[in-house]
Amino acid sequence: MKPHRIALTHCLVMHYGLHKKMQIYKPYRASSHDMCRFHSEDYIEFLQRVSPHNVQNFTKQLGIFNVGDDCPVFDGLFDFCSMYTGASLEGAIKLNNKHCDIAVNWSGGLHHAKKFEASGFCYVNDIVIAILELLKYHPRVLYIDIDIHHGDGVQEAFYLTDRVMTVSFHKYGNHFFPGTGDMYEIGAESGRLYSVNVPLKEGIDDQTYLSIYQQVIKSVMEFYQPTCVVLQCGADSLGSDRLGCFNLSIKGHGECVKIMKDYNVPLLVMGGGGYTKRNVARCWTYETSVLVDEQISDEIPYNEYIQYFAPDFNLHPDISTKQENLNTKQYLDSIRLSVHENLRNLPSSPSVQMQDIPPDLLSLENTEELDPDIRNHQDENDKRVDAANEFYDGERDNDKDADGLLDV
Ligand SMILES: [Zn+2]
Repeated sequence: MKPHRIALTHCLVMHYGLHKKMQIYKPYRASSHDMCRFHSEDYIEFLQRVSPHNVQNFTKQLGIFNVGDDCPVFDGLFDFCSMYTGASLEGAIKLNNKHCDIAVNWSGGLHHAKKFEASGFCYVNDIVIAILELLKYHPRVLYIDIDIHHGDGVQEAFYLTDRVMTVSFHKYGNHFFPGTGDMYEIGAESGRLYSVNVPLKEGIDDQTYLSIYQQVIKSVMEFYQPTCVVLQCGADSLGSDRLGCFNLSIKGHGECVKIMKDYNVPLLVMGGGGYTKRNVARCWTYETSVLVDEQISDEIPYNEYIQYFAPDFNLHPDISTKQENLNTKQYLDSIRLSVHENLRNLPSSPSVQMQDIPPDLLSLENTEELDPDIRNHQDENDKRVDAANEFYDGERDNDKDADGLLDV
């Protein structure tokens, strides 16, 4: 999952001074109890116990829980899950308590994880856990996914309910991972028509993508009227991604974020995929600037990772590829029409009687880190955010050779 991209992103956000326009928190660490709100207990217990040193004792479980190939065992695996999941959960709680209008967790957005198994680099589904928390206060939560891969784990978790609408824009066809996300997957039982899929072909550019995104989102907002939005911003939909095959620019990707921000509905923003690190960091930094309403220079400020952004050292280099856009107007029109038809047939926006609100998943009194008086103190924030680079492996970071310096 390349955690180093998060260190790069954090570094750019800091050097552009964007932290001055928001509050930055060291994330709450999700407990196994928090994770079991969605996942099965035996799966989470396995994640907690397995390590590269004892992996040979878990041969049977590796198969059952789909851990090993795409989702390798590594040192600190549970800690990693605990941090990114805790941050999404904390974002949800802050939104619920109206402590912010927008919460951002670039380390989250692991949309493929399933109740009983890992999938596609995702172990714990922080998105589902955060949405479950939002549902304590919000009658209707909208989930939007602009990662190039289908948001299958989140769709599956809420496939039978009308309280969460999932909308995923992704590459579909030719066995592209994970293989789901056809436009005929629309939800079932009470959730029928509440799963929306926009399957796309390779090479889609800004203009085509934004046109269908804007129209689908407009219908979704009008017909569903969510009280809260969760946006997964996987950056593997950018041009030149190592695993992707779309052709979005950083501005184009950021426009999807801007469009959601402009609806002025409480917003939880997360990361996701993205495998060309320098562009992931550029993209999420630019999107942070969009979210805090700050115009930032195209010239990347000097920082300890500056060599990653060679040779141009710009925030918006041309990252387009020669990949032909296979999405014809007719093809997109047919999807648009079908999505619109389904949304038009939604029963009027579902409401629930919110009677006994269950307590917040994490008790604010129990986590020292969460004391708002300490957290809001600027000096404390500065101290905390400067202690960065904890994900960087130094000399042993093999990405540096493969991706950062040579491959430009
Ligand atoms: Zn992805």
